[in-house]
Amino acid sequence: MYLTPKRTRLAYSFAMRRLFALVALAAIALMATAGAAPRAAAANIVIITMDGLRWQEVFGGAERSLLGNDEKAIVGSASYRRFWKESAGERRAALMPFFWSVVATQGQVFGDASRGSRSHVTNGLWFSYPGYSEMLAGVADPRVDSNDKIPNPNVTVLEWLNGLPAYRGRVAAFGAWDVLPYIVNAGRSRLPVGAGYPPVPKPASERERTINDLADDLPPIWDGAPLDAPIMQAALECLRTRRPRVLYVMLGETDEWAHDGRYDLYLDAAFRSDRFIRRVWDTIQRMPAYANRTALVLATDHGRGATNADWTDHGRKVPAAEDTWMAVMGPGVPATGLRASVTVTTSQVAATVAALLGEDFRRAVPAAAPPLPGVTPER
Ligand SMILES: [Zn+2]
Repeated sequence: MYLTPKRTRLAYSFAMRRLFALVALAAIALMATAGAAPRAAAANIVIITMDGLRWQEVFGGAERSLLGNDEKAIVGSASYRRFWKESAGERRAALMPFFWSVVATQGQVFGDASRGSRSHVTNGLWFSYPGYSEMLAGVADPRVDSNDKIPNPNVTVLEWLNGLPAYRGRVAAFGAWDVLPYIVNAGRSRLPVGAGYPPVPKPASERERTINDLADDLPPIWDGAPLDAPIMQAALECLRTRRPRVLYVMLGETDEWAHDGRYDLYLDAAFRSDRFIRRVWDTIQRMPAYANRTALVLATDHGRGATNADWTDHGRKVPAAEDTWMAVMGPGVPATGLRASVTVTTSQVAATVAALLGEDFRRAVPAAAPPLPGVTPER
């Protein structure tokens, strides 16, 4: 085609403009990709806590001296067959196989004393409500000094996220303890909380009604604390059908069986908790809205005694119960595994949850402890 010089120039300049536009678009796309790699925030998060699960079992598996006194009875026990192995590495893998095969290799684990690390609560009380409040609100509050059903004066990261437009109505909590609605101040936060009586607050399907019926038919072993199974099912069903962006699940049997001195059932509860975490993770990976876009945070509200005499207990008279553990896994979290030579506090969980979603909890609560180091990009 013949072009006059003027038209040639025009065509040339048009082609150049298109070229520049394409180059600019490509550059923006590249920058977005490059920026996304280190900063990748998760779109969703699941937080699961196991009440009073000791770091000793998490990192060392079953403890021989707690399996019993009679050697013949120990060797003949189911706990021994299931959880006793020669090395600590084998024992912990037998107790919490998902935690050690997936979380500890694809994420990060804090609190391993054998690597010079420590994780602890800062509330000085070493029992549940102060522990959960510190964990979810990011700061120990001396006003929170009992397990009584008093609405939490602190704003938890769950309530704060639920107040942001992107998360409104998409935060849910389930717990095997009827104090959970008070810990998250359900009256003020309007968070839906399934705390066992019944596990599903507003059942909308046959399956949810069945979960509530099943919970009714289980034995009421402890006052105010249901068994974990219906809580697990309620949380899984919520994940599958209600699609929360933030899901908190508080499991409680580890603490209850320990208080009852049932080391066998305490170990079994830890094992079932780990299997539940695997089910949650497998469910996440099967759902396109969640797969590779969801972070997982695991933690506990306090430790327990370190000796045969006081492992069942925790609280002010059991100083060893100050020590905890925690673990994080998800998009953008470097897979550094067992963290060495680092001390962290349970109060760092709240800001970590927000940071994993790309949010800054300390914008709202400046007193909150900072996110865990090396888990999310520095802001
Ligand atoms: Zn507790």
